Amino acid sequence: MDKSQTPDNRTITIDLLAQRGVCLEDIAHLVLELQKGYYSDLTFAECLESVMRVLDKREVQNAILTGLTLDILTERGLVDEPLASILRNDDNLYGIDEILSLSIVNVYGSIGLTNFGYLDKLKPGIIGSINGKNNRVNTFLDDIVAAIAAAASARIAHRARAVPTGD
Ligand code: MG
Repeated sequence: MDKSQTPDNRTITIDLLAQRGVCLEDIAHLVLELQKGYYSDLTFAECLESVMRVLDKREVQNAILTGLTLDILTERGLVDEPLASILRNDDNLYGIDEILSLSIVNVYGSIGLTNFGYLDKLKPGIIGSINGKNNRVNTFLDDIVAAIAAAASARIAHRARAVPTGD
């Protein structure tokens, strides 16, 4: 098989998010909302760029592929009990969805954690609409989207501070 015909994992990841109802623009909107109070000249295009750079990372792609695959397999009835019911009901005491998402949050250091906690609690924008969808299993998706937005926000914060200091 010609390797140039094979989509790379980043493309597969972006397509998978789109299949689950989330486009990168939705995530960029979250980033802009989170960061505009700190950087008054921050543009939507910069937020979108930051989301793209987060998705370049293999660790992020792997977390997304893993979480969304579990959501999809559960939806298709291909996961055994008791895990199937836990994932269908998005059981509060499960917590592995948040733990998996921390591998995304942490790619730009622990600064992403505060943003993640904020988004997870308030569920603004696309995160809220994900949670409201009936007959779908999106136990991992909401945390993954919040984590990508949190990491992209942390990246913006780090870059804003990245002036040459000689160290
Ligand atoms: Mg969840």
